This record gives sequence, C-alpha cells and structure tokens, in this order.
Amino acid sequence: MSGIGGNLRIDAERLWASIMETAAIGATEKGGIRRLTLTDLDRAVRDWFVARCTEAGCSISVDELGNIAARRPGRDNSLPPIAIGSHLDTQPTGGKFDGVIGVLAGLEVLRTLNDAGYQTHAPIEVIDWTNEEGSRFAPAMLASGVFAGAFDRDYAYSRTDREGLSFGAELERIGYRGDEVCGARRLGAFFELHIEQGPILEAEGKTIGIVTGVQGMRWYEVTVTGMECHAGSTPMHLRADALVAAARMIGAVQAVGLAHAPDAVATVGLVEVRPNSRNVIPGEVFFTIDLRHPDDAVLAAMEAALRERLEAAAREDGVAMALTRIWDSPSVHFDAGCIEAVEDAARTLGFGARRMVSGAGHDAAYIARVAPTTMVFVPCEKGISHNEAEKSEPGDIAAGADVLLRAVLATDERLAARKPG
Ligand SMILES: [Zn+2]
Repeated sequence: MSGIGGNLRIDAERLWASIMETAAIGATEKGGIRRLTLTDLDRAVRDWFVARCTEAGCSISVDELGNIAARRPGRDNSLPPIAIGSHLDTQPTGGKFDGVIGVLAGLEVLRTLNDAGYQTHAPIEVIDWTNEEGSRFAPAMLASGVFAGAFDRDYAYSRTDREGLSFGAELERIGYRGDEVCGARRLGAFFELHIEQGPILEAEGKTIGIVTGVQGMRWYEVTVTGMECHAGSTPMHLRADALVAAARMIGAVQAVGLAHAPDAVATVGLVEVRPNSRNVIPGEVFFTIDLRHPDDAVLAAMEAALRERLEAAAREDGVAMALTRIWDSPSVHFDAGCIEAVEDAARTLGFGARRMVSGAGHDAAYIARVAPTTMVFVPCEKGISHNEAEKSEPGDIAAGADVLLRAVLATDERLAARKPG
C-alpha cells in the first residue's frame, strides 16, 4: 500500500510503555513474568487490557473460552474483522515479550488508527487467546484450538491443573467465561506478531521474519527392555543392557536429524532409567523423541529411517524396543496474500527481512485453519525464550508493529476491493 495510510507509524514509546506496564503484573525478581493462565494475575492483565481497549473506543466481547476480542468498527461492519492477536499468559518462568507483544502491538495499531482518524473498511479486532502456553492446563494453544475446531469446548473445560482445578471452573472464577460461542466469529484475516524464539534473525542481522508457516512436529515414546542383572557378576557378553541400547538409539535420533539438516530437528529430551541403580545393569529405559520438519513428506521419511535404525540397535544389543507415535501435528502453510502483505510492508519500510518457518507452535497455527493467516517475527537476544532473561529491543518490536500496521491496512484494502457489490 503506497497510498492511504502510507505514512502512518505506530508510537514506539507508547507501545514500549504498555509492554512495561503489563510486565509489572506477575513480575519476577529476575526480570521475567510468572502469569499462568486463569490465575488472579491473568485476570489482572485481562482487566488492564479490557480497560485500555475500552478507552480506545473498542467494544469488547468475550467468548465461552475466555478469548477476549476488542473491536474497532470499520466503514462496513458487515465485513468480517481483520484480527491481530496473541496471548497474555506466560510460562512459570516466562519473559516479558512472548505473546505479550502480539496483543499489545494490536492495541498500538488501534491507537495509531484512532490518532490519525483513519477509517478502515472492515472492523479491526485485537484478540487475547486464552491458555496459549499450556503450562498450567495442557495442551497448549487450547482456546485458539477450540476456535479453529481442533478441540471441543467441553474437552477444554475438563482440563485440570496439577491441583485438580479445572479450566472451566477457573475461567468462571476469574469472571472471563463469556457467552459468545467460541469459533462463531468469522475472521477476514489474522496476523500475529511474535518474538522469533530462535537465533536466526539476530545471527543474520535481520529485523523482520516473514513467517510462511509452522513446521510439522511428531512426538514419540520409546521403551527399551533388557534384563536387570548384577553389575559385578554378569559378564559383558551375556548382558542385555537397556541403557547401552538406548544410548545407541539416541545417537540414531541425532543422526536422522543431521541427515536432513538444516531444516530438520530431532531431540531426545526426557530419559528415565530403571532401576537407576549404580550396581544394576539397566533393565528398562524410557525416552521421548521430538521430530520436526517443515515438509510432512520429509518428516514421514525421517520417521521411517528412525524406526529402522532403532530396530537395528535393539537387535544388535539383544533388547526389545517399542516405539509409539503419540502426537502428529502436520505442517501449517500460511496464506499467500497475508505473507505478501507482510513482505511488502517490510520492504517498503526498509527493514531487513527474510522468509522463515516457525519452529514453535503458535495460536496462528490453529487460526490458519479457519482464516487467512500469517505471522511476523522480530529478533530476541540469542534466541532465548520461555526464560526470564528473554530480551527484545524496543526498536525491533516497534518495527514489527509498523509492519503489522501496514500489512493490516493493505489487507483491509485488498479484501474490501474483492467484496462483490
Ligand atoms: Zn507465545
């Protein structure tokens, strides 16, 4: 968009001040945030968000999953809204930026449009999705998942935390169980600004990540069964050592990842050894595997290679091995029109940018199932996230918000031009 709205810029200082205001809600001593979903602190930040959006002239609606949508009307309110959003909940030792910047940049876009007296064709909405993190109630991205039809409402309500409190009861308790049916709202498009949570942008000195999709992920559980025996009296050649076999298998997982580098990643993050005693040959080992790749066909080939190599390792060491796939999340491909809008915006504004695939899951991955969607990434220091030390530069966040503003306005023009009549 070179014409109308071409010179609009967000107010970087106001955006940063909003981020710092919300960072005080659940602030930790180490400079992070602990603001688990549906706690009193989550209620406090929601109340803050609703108050600021109301001041900005928005109408507020809350759906039955607690997703909050703040709407700034457009010229034609029969058009589905163009939405901007992310999440305000954090990990137990979370940072100040993950999720938060996506919601607050949306608020800043609305404030900027207000200041300029700019009227969009479609309404613009800013959305705070409930329970993106999934650290209190698993799984993650629960409420955007319900919105997109991946989970049903009652499944979400029945999720419990470690103390046995349910999602439904806690949502009710904090006063954010709304009336609107979750997912009833149709979106014209959805944009999510997020920190990269990886090291690529910083390493390449780029400001903007144009996110083309989310890579596919598969999770597995492996149990290796050998024979527990005395560590002193069992000769080496008569052992069925489950841990030695598992070590070989973990090496195979790494090899499968390396064979498909640089796009593939393969991780063993959890290992349990039984009986885990220094003078007993391990009889059983349990471990998990996390495989990811942007191309589902490559992911399938990685899985086949993995099975073959693990079975071979089991044979070699004389142990039994059971490999189970427990989760399969296919890759997500974002909308070409939205991606182009982000790319154009970054180019016009003169920011160094590159296309990339998200390594992590986000609300946008689910929303992409029901609306044209994309994401904008900005760098975070050393790629560190889900950590109190998470750090992003004010200038980079402002750049991301400016790209967001411009992409949203361009999409508004494009969708309005396409509407018949
Ligand atoms: Zn996030």
